[in-house]
Amino acid sequence: MRPDTPSSCDGRPLISIVVLQPTPFCNIDCRYCYLPERSNKAVMHLGTVIAAFDRIFSSGWCSSHLTVIWHAGEPLVLPVSYYQAAFEAIALMCPPGIELRHSIQTNGMLLNSEWCDFIKRWRVGIGVSIDGPRHLHDANRVTRSGKGTFHRTLEGIRLLRREQVPFHVISVLSEKSMHAPEELLDFYLSEGIDDVCFNVEESEGSHVSGLLTSADPATSFRQFLDRFWTLSRQSSRIHFIREIDGMISRIFRPEGTAVDNSQVEPFGMINIDCRGNVSSFSPELLGYKNADYNDFIVGNVLEDSLPDMLRSPAMRAMARDISAGVELCRQECEYFSVCGGGAPVNKLTENGSFATSRTQFCRLIQIVPTDLILSALDRLEGEFDGVAAARAPHQSNSVAGYQFKSTPQIVPDPPPATPNFRPDSPDVALHQIQRGSR
Ligand code: SF4
Repeated sequence: MRPDTPSSCDGRPLISIVVLQPTPFCNIDCRYCYLPERSNKAVMHLGTVIAAFDRIFSSGWCSSHLTVIWHAGEPLVLPVSYYQAAFEAIALMCPPGIELRHSIQTNGMLLNSEWCDFIKRWRVGIGVSIDGPRHLHDANRVTRSGKGTFHRTLEGIRLLRREQVPFHVISVLSEKSMHAPEELLDFYLSEGIDDVCFNVEESEGSHVSGLLTSADPATSFRQFLDRFWTLSRQSSRIHFIREIDGMISRIFRPEGTAVDNSQVEPFGMINIDCRGNVSSFSPELLGYKNADYNDFIVGNVLEDSLPDMLRSPAMRAMARDISAGVELCRQECEYFSVCGGGAPVNKLTENGSFATSRTQFCRLIQIVPTDLILSALDRLEGEFDGVAAARAPHQSNSVAGYQFKSTPQIVPDPPPATPNFRPDSPDVALHQIQRGSR
């Protein structure tokens, strides 16, 4: 079988993203949250952090660009001193030649000047979860007593701006906000937010998404994204829309490179909970129950080496079924060259099996943005053709030669063992992994 995504040329794993859950605890209780342990105040010991990176670095499987994402629960409920000790220990252990970048996804409520100093000192990538203006945000992002969190999150964002800390926001789109692109854009512009990601509200755990059960979520999302993209470009003040700009770089990538999908390769992404349990593939799997795959746990950093975990029955079973799903995607889906086989967690939760292809999630996250971008390019091509024909008919071949096709197969499938393409900025990797984050 042909490799699609991250593994080194000799077939060994290539770890590009480490997701650490320093604590499952969260200080708020969003209505759409899927995290089953968000009231559990357990904390990952520093010794577990050290054991994890000892395993990772000594495996020899690290990519030269390693993104470490502190995720799940609310990372900022732990003190700055916790991260200072952890970051220093990791830096001491990190072998030469590996460029390591930390990232944190937060609800922003606990940000203060001490955090800002720390973030700047370590150049930590920061993502803040905010769902738009107050009435959209407070509809779902609430405390355990049901109070809205908008005010404190916005205070955190304003502090980041005053302290000149770069950040992006992730907004979860509900059925209501899907019809309010103008309102969302006005909000971002009024708060100086210029880097945005949209997560479509999903049905996960006990939460049933009103959006996904609506009549035609893909059409709603397409209309939303189309309008938001157009308006934001007109304003010239939104610099990055993950669903558009992140996708453009996947569609138009260097020839002969495969798209990077760390979620379908064993240890392309390594996910570690506060007890040291290790999973791989989609980070949301860590914490779910499943008898067939040992609750998706392949080992523990306090006891097992990474090669042992790679040989574990759970890893082999998941790798086999996920690979079968990727192969189905390759055979059936015309979007495979920009997607690389999707998110295993969505295949399992929506279709009941890793060994499947299309999901509602991939319709929204892969297909809608790709179609939108290619439609826009087709329109542009038409305009270029018209202008060229009118101005210099004898030169029209030079414009016609620059062709965009309505088919997504812009980039041919790559030959085996080609280098993998990933968007340059580590924050883009962070954006990708945080599709499911809240
Ligand atoms: S868009 Fe969906 S069906 Fe197509 S390759 Fe991606 S995951 Fe598979």
